[in-house]
Amino acid sequence: MISQDSLKTIKQQAFAEIDLLRDEAVAIAADMHANPEIGWDTPRSAGLLTDYLEKHDMFVEKGVANLNCAFRASIPGRMDDGVGVALLAEFDALPGLGHGCSHNLIGTIAATAGIAVRRVLGDNPGNVYVMGCPFEEGGGGKIYMIDEGVFDVADVSLMWHGGNAVRVGTPNIAAASMNYTFTGRSAHSGNAPHEGINAADAAMLTFAGVNALRQHVTPDVRIHGIIDEGGVAPNTVPERSSVRMMIRAYHHEDLSALRERVHDCARGAALMTGTKLEIHEEPIYAERLVVPGMRKVVLENLSLVGLEMPDSDPQTFASADSGNVSQKIPHVTFTLPLDNEGSVPHTPSFAAACNTDMAWDALITAAKIMAASALDLITNPDRVTSIVEEHAGLKSTRANARN
Ligand SMILES: [Zn+2]
Repeated sequence: MISQDSLKTIKQQAFAEIDLLRDEAVAIAADMHANPEIGWDTPRSAGLLTDYLEKHDMFVEKGVANLNCAFRASIPGRMDDGVGVALLAEFDALPGLGHGCSHNLIGTIAATAGIAVRRVLGDNPGNVYVMGCPFEEGGGGKIYMIDEGVFDVADVSLMWHGGNAVRVGTPNIAAASMNYTFTGRSAHSGNAPHEGINAADAAMLTFAGVNALRQHVTPDVRIHGIIDEGGVAPNTVPERSSVRMMIRAYHHEDLSALRERVHDCARGAALMTGTKLEIHEEPIYAERLVVPGMRKVVLENLSLVGLEMPDSDPQTFASADSGNVSQKIPHVTFTLPLDNEGSVPHTPSFAAACNTDMAWDALITAAKIMAASALDLITNPDRVTSIVEEHAGLKSTRANARN
């Protein structure tokens, strides 16, 4: 094991490396912000990060988990050696909002921290993995990567996210997305409405069913949706409609049964209207497990970049596929604010805040916290062992509480 003094020294070296990378990192985050890509189709954004990582001598595996834009970068030549720390990179944007969830910074921070760790780690065993995780905003790229074994090399995982305050380890909740497509028959609404089968009615009746369901779910549950297609003209019976629905709950284990009940609302609506229903399910985003020992690693590094420890770690009711990573291995997400107005993700003001000098300062600060935390973990396998035990204990306590 490395001495406390040399650990202090290599952290300071990592900070100096990150300062040197600033212009390059800012150029990447700004480029991504100016050219947002959404869904699975994000080759430009993923390419900016893999080019950056390769330029700085990281070994990059592209197209992992059979996903075009997924990648895993690591220090060359030491795949299974010592502690593996995963740094989560995201890079997809939001439809209509661009980079309104700070993913342009998330990806760049993970890559910058990974490069800095590689440069200072020297002969110490262990590896850092920059996990390039596509389509966080609904697709669940990390879930496919977990299923395909991409995360098997990692013992613990770290991630940064933009927020409205300094927070470390904020618990969130589980979520699932689904689409309902109703197909009816079009007809002239005035001349021959009796010949039509109204798909817009099916969409509206789905919401009527969901609204009746709301009284009979536990208080943690959220059900929210939109009708993204509901006909083309008021004088034509709508032939097709499409409903996009999301459900959330504290525990991912509750979502499968809840999802069936929402499906039943759509099935009932199809029956009532005589439309045909197609159901499409996205993978379930698990709630984020917060392991206190993992949270402590990040908290201890805040003072090194001049930040105070947050006094609380409030529950949020958002969801993320990093939750699935947190169910597999100990994980911590920390946040820094990007403006002084308290903007929150998924708003236009937050999108604007992801492309400012304050955002670039946050990028550098977050990369330093992440690199220092990764170095703490890589150089202290005993600490990682106890964090892994703590994670297992937390999971079994939760499982027992549910039984
Ligand atoms: Zn988001």
